[in-house]
This record gives sequence, structure tokens and C-alpha cells, in this order.
Amino acid sequence: MAADLRFKVVDEAFKRGPVEVKTPKERPSEYFGKYVFDKQKMFKYLPIDVYHKMCDVIDHGAPFDRAIADAVAQGIKTWALEMGVTHYTHWFQPLTDGTAEKHDGFVEHNGKGGMVEEFEGKLLIQQEPDASSFPSGGLRSTFEARGYSAWDPTSPVFIIGDTLMIPTIFIAYTGEALDYKVPLKKSLYAIDKAATAVAQLFNPDVKKVITNLGWEQEYFLVDEALYAARPDLVLTGRTLMGHDSAKNQQMDDHYFGSIPARVEEFMKDIEIQALELGIPVKTRHNEVAPNQFELAPIYEEANLAVDHNMLMMSIMKRVARKHHFRCLLHEKPFKGINGSGKHNNWSLATDTGILLHAPGKTPEDNLRFVTFIVETLKGVYNHNGLLKASIISATNAHRLGANEAPPAIISAFLGKTVTELLEHVENADDNALNMAGKQAYKIDLPSLPELLIDNTDRNRTSPFAFTGNRFEFRAVGSEANCACALLSLNTAVAQALTQFKQRVDTLTQQGIEPTAAILKAVREDIKYIKPLIFNGNGYGEAWKQEAAQRGLDCETSAPRMFDRYLTDNTIRMFEEMNVLTHAELLARNEIKWETYTKKIQIESRIFGDLCLNHIIPVVTKYQSMLIDNVHKVMEIFTQEKARNISKENINIIEQISEHEAFIIENVERMIEARKTSNRIDNERDKAIAYHDTVAPLLEEIRYHVDKLETIVDDEAWPLPKYRELLFIR
Ligand code: ADP
Ligand code: MG
Repeated sequence: MAADLRFKVVDEAFKRGPVEVKTPKERPSEYFGKYVFDKQKMFKYLPIDVYHKMCDVIDHGAPFDRAIADAVAQGIKTWALEMGVTHYTHWFQPLTDGTAEKHDGFVEHNGKGGMVEEFEGKLLIQQEPDASSFPSGGLRSTFEARGYSAWDPTSPVFIIGDTLMIPTIFIAYTGEALDYKVPLKKSLYAIDKAATAVAQLFNPDVKKVITNLGWEQEYFLVDEALYAARPDLVLTGRTLMGHDSAKNQQMDDHYFGSIPARVEEFMKDIEIQALELGIPVKTRHNEVAPNQFELAPIYEEANLAVDHNMLMMSIMKRVARKHHFRCLLHEKPFKGINGSGKHNNWSLATDTGILLHAPGKTPEDNLRFVTFIVETLKGVYNHNGLLKASIISATNAHRLGANEAPPAIISAFLGKTVTELLEHVENADDNALNMAGKQAYKIDLPSLPELLIDNTDRNRTSPFAFTGNRFEFRAVGSEANCACALLSLNTAVAQALTQFKQRVDTLTQQGIEPTAAILKAVREDIKYIKPLIFNGNGYGEAWKQEAAQRGLDCETSAPRMFDRYLTDNTIRMFEEMNVLTHAELLARNEIKWETYTKKIQIESRIFGDLCLNHIIPVVTKYQSMLIDNVHKVMEIFTQEKARNISKENINIIEQISEHEAFIIENVERMIEARKTSNRIDNERDKAIAYHDTVAPLLEEIRYHVDKLETIVDDEAWPLPKYRELLFIR
């Protein structure tokens, strides 16, 4: 791009005002779920017995009875046609971090030369999309292209535009999962089973434990004209070059600051659309970095919350364009300022209340609270390497371990109150805990109002923090499908709870009184999980050393972290909990390594092009201009005087030559490194080669490009600069 074009797009962006959004006449409570086939609509459009059966499926996990499929499809069709819908699609989450859909019309021949709108139960519950182009990690060779998508009746169908969207799972012909939803649902089932058994130790009436998820989605907005002028943003979602803006986030004036009018209209728009689609959005604010924002709904059951997050991300991208923005979900679009994460607020709840709730009024409540906290942490500790693998990606790797995000080590923060509570349970002698009889049994706790716990010094540097009634898994990337992290977390906790129950059962069989048995097992585990607990500064260098001494997983290279999916410990856990098989894990890792490689490969290619086609020519031209000037100065002054006058310019000419030489030479090296890596057949080794040999060159070369940006005439620089990209007026 020529520099004058840069000025044109900057000017365009600068002048752009808000795209006003009309607020609906109704209140949010009235248009909430307008485009969702929710229970209210089921009640209206389904026969009453079918309605009750559907409620049973949704609320109690009853199996979906195929016999009602036609009646359900009929009800959905009637509603959809009334809403002006013409098409339907199965909507699923292949292993690409996005969603997939293929639209079909409702129309069928009516046998009399005309058409009729048809939608039968079988179309609702199952389809066979040609799946050959979705990642399968070798589970389904391309000639056996069949994959099945099957309706997930616990996530309601909804309408976007003229299309009925049907949330589905996606599996191979041979039954293996090719998506995130299948293992997520299996992990939710595993945790329900394990946690219910443990919760029943305290309250025999508990029938079901559900997992809640409240995600906080961070994102950046960039004006579309500026975006279009940055090929790196367009192709990779992040800027591969760009010198720091003199002002960025150092004044702390963006976080919670007033929201620019253009952005506010955008937020209003996505919120209305989200609410209409049944996504209970609630919170919006500016984030730390300029142009960075956050959106958070009220938490929901995890499977639904994941679907809603996937849907939300696509709404955000789509609506951004209407407002002449591009929404960047990449974890690190800009170097030197904060990246974006997606805090996953996670908790377990029974039909009677939240299990991770701050200590309650009765001793049983307190022991239950301690048990669930400790067993959650035990799961996290046992599989800390896996949990890190579950959140890492080529893109999130830029954020983790950088200054604004936790390091690439999974530890847990409990705050003062809970830490002291665990110490108390661990150390009080048995007499003080009065374990003799159930009646007298007691964990002495001062009564702790929830507020007090909630306000525990919030440690923003911790990847897994307790915040009053939930854990916040903060290491999840902004672009990721939350299910990837959640299915590992759920399974790890399910395993810890299952083993806990077994231990307590063994102790009671030996004649130990149940409460004493629970206490004994909990106290062992409090000791066991100590290395995971870290209440200090996770950003500090000292922590890395200490964590290594504690035996926590300190691997920093993304492709090597993926190995954690294939350790004996992990495979056993996933198989025992019936979430993923060894074959599925192998296949998923192939995809992870392949995806890693491709992302770095694309970055490296576009970066090389930008260096050689955009930067070097402009820089050379500028350098020639300076050389010309030096020559001209020589013509009119004596040699000595001319040298003196041109001292600075000669210096710049030299600097430019050095940077240019480095760039050209190393782009060449980078291309060679790619070629060498591409010859490797094994996906793991290839990804490691890309990580070790290609990725570092991107950073090394970038340093020189960014230096040149500060030297070369602003009027010649071809790419919008950080100071132009980052400040929406
Ligand atoms: P903060 O930025 O202070 O962490 P936010 O209000 O931005 O808090 O987001 C908190 C998120 O946590 C919301 O989605 C909220 O619904 C969710 N949340 C609150 N309580 C729970 C809980 N018990 N389980 C799961 N999520 C919860
Ligand atoms: Mg949070």
C-alpha cells in the first residue's frame, strides 16, 4: 500500500461517527429469547405430553425419545414458518475453534408439480454432512467422508436471519467425536455422577449436580478501513509488525473509562441481538488496553453457556462490520499492550444450591464446602500439565507468560480466608474438631458473610482463582472454544471426586464414622495439594523457579505442552471417566499440532511478504533520498563542511542498511526454516520445528522492522501505525 493510501484510511477512520442503533420498544425482559425455541414456545407449539418429555430431557437429562421427534419437528416448523424462516441447518463445533453450518431449504416437491414446506423429525435429529474437509486427525480418511451430526436437545434451536439453527454434536461414522460438544457433554455427565455421589454424603436428597459457566469475553475493535490496510491483521488476526505507540495503556485511562460513542452503539447492538437469542448478557466495559473491551453474560449451565459463547463470538464479528469495525478475538493482536482472555467462571451446583458457596451456617455445610474446594484443586493439581495444554494454542501462547497474563504454569489462588480455613481443618487436633459423635462434630468457623469472601484480595495474576462461590479459570484464550478447557477441567475434577468417594467408602467399611472418614480423606488431600496453592505474584520471575521446585508443569513451548494429552496419567483419566478414548486423544493431538504449524506458517509467509514487498522497497527509496541529499550537499559545500552537515543523514543511511541487511538475510533464513520443517512428516516434530526455528525469527526480524518505522519518514510508511490503529474517537 502506498503511504498516501494510509493517510486516506486514517482520515476515513478518524471522521467516522457512530452507527446509531434503534433501541427496541420493548424491555429486554420482553424480547429476551425472541428467536429461541425455548420452553415457552415448546409449551405453545408442542402437544402437552411431548412438551413434558422435552422438559424431562432438558432438566433431568432423560434420553431423547425418537418417537417424539416428528412432533417436535412439526412444532418447530410451525414456529419457524411464522417467523419467516425458509432454511434450516445443523450447527456444530468442529475442531477448528469456529462453528460450521450447511443450510437446506424447507422446500420439497409435493408430487403434484409444486412445492411444499417440509421438516421431518429425522432431519431435526440427524444429518450426514460431507465431513471430509473438517479436521479429523486421521480418524476419518477422506474417502470415508461420512460424519454424523445429531441434535443436542439440551441446547435449544434458534433463528438467525431466515435460517433455523439446530445445535448438534458431530461424530465420525465410526462413532468417534469430531467436535468439542461430545466430550464436553460426557465430561459434564462424569462430573454430575461423581459430584452427586459426594454431595449425597452430606445431603442424601441431592439428585443432580450441574456445572455452571460464566465466561467473560475480551475483544478489540479496529476501524475497518485501517484493518483492511493491514494484511497481517486480515490474514492472521494480529499485527506482525508495528512500533509501540508513544501512548498506549500506561496512563490506565482506558480501563472502566467512558465508552466511545461508536463503540457504545456497537455494544448496544450486540446486546440486543444476544438477548433476542437468549444469551443473558449483562456486563460491558472498557478493558485495560486501548480499543479493548469486555462483555459478560450471567452464568448458565456449561453446555448452553459454551454454545452461547460460540454464538456470541459470531454475532460480535458480524455486527462489528455493520458499525465499520472489525472485531479482533485474537489473544494478542498488538505487541506491548494487554492481550485478550476469556475468564471461565466455573462452579458446581445441585438442585439445592451452589456447591462452592462460601462456608455456610452448619458444620455439614462447611465440611461440604471444604471437600468440594479441595477435590477441585486435587483434580487441577493432578492434571495441571493437561489443563495448561487445554488452553494453549499458537495464538494464546503470545499472551501466557507475557506481562499481563499468568505465566505458563497452572497454580491456584485461594485468598486469605479460604487458605486459613484449609489450614484450620488440616491442623486442628481431632478433639478440637470434635469428631467423636456426629452431633458434636464441628468445624469452628467464624461466620463469614459471602461478601467478605467475595472481596478477598483478587489476585489477577493467578490462572485459577477462587472468587467467593466459583473458580475463575483465567488462562483460557479469547478466541478459544471454552469447551476445550472445560472438558479437561471437568474430567479432572470428576476423577478426584470419584476417587474421594471410593476412599471414604473404604474407610467407612473399616468402621470409621462417615464424617470422620470424610475429614480424614480431606485432610490428606489438603496436604497433598499444597504445591498447587500460590497466593503470591504470578508475574514474578521468582515464581517460575519456585514452581519448578514444587514440581508443577513449567513447559513453555506450545507443541510440547500438547504431549500432556498423551501421558499415561491423562489417557487413564479420560478413559476411566469415559470422556475421550485413546484413539480420540491421538487424533485430537494430530489436529492440535497441525493447526499450530499452519498458524505459524501463515504468519511467517505474510510476514515475509510484508517485509520484502512493503517495507524494504519503501525503506530503500527513503534511503536513496537521503543519499541524494548527501550528494547534493557535497556539491555545494567543501568536503569537510559537507560531511559535518550530513553527519546525521549518513548515520541514518547506515542504520537503514544494517536493518535492511538483517531483514533480508533473515527472511531468507525463515523461508529455509519453513522448507526444512515442511519436509518433516510427523505432525508433532513439524510443529516443534516451527516453534523452535520459524516462530523466533518472526520476533527477531520484527524488531528491525519496528526500528525502521521510527527512522523512516512518516509520509512514506505504508502500514497504519499502532497509534492510528489503537484509538477510536
Ligand atoms: P469480574 O470481571 O469481576 O471477574 P464479571 O462480573 O465481569 O466479574 O464476571 C463474572 C462472571 O462470573 C459473570 O459471568 C457471572 O455470571 C459469573 N458468575 C458469578 N457467579 C458464578 C458462579 N457461581 N458460577 C459460575 N459463574 C459465576
Ligand atoms: Mg473475572
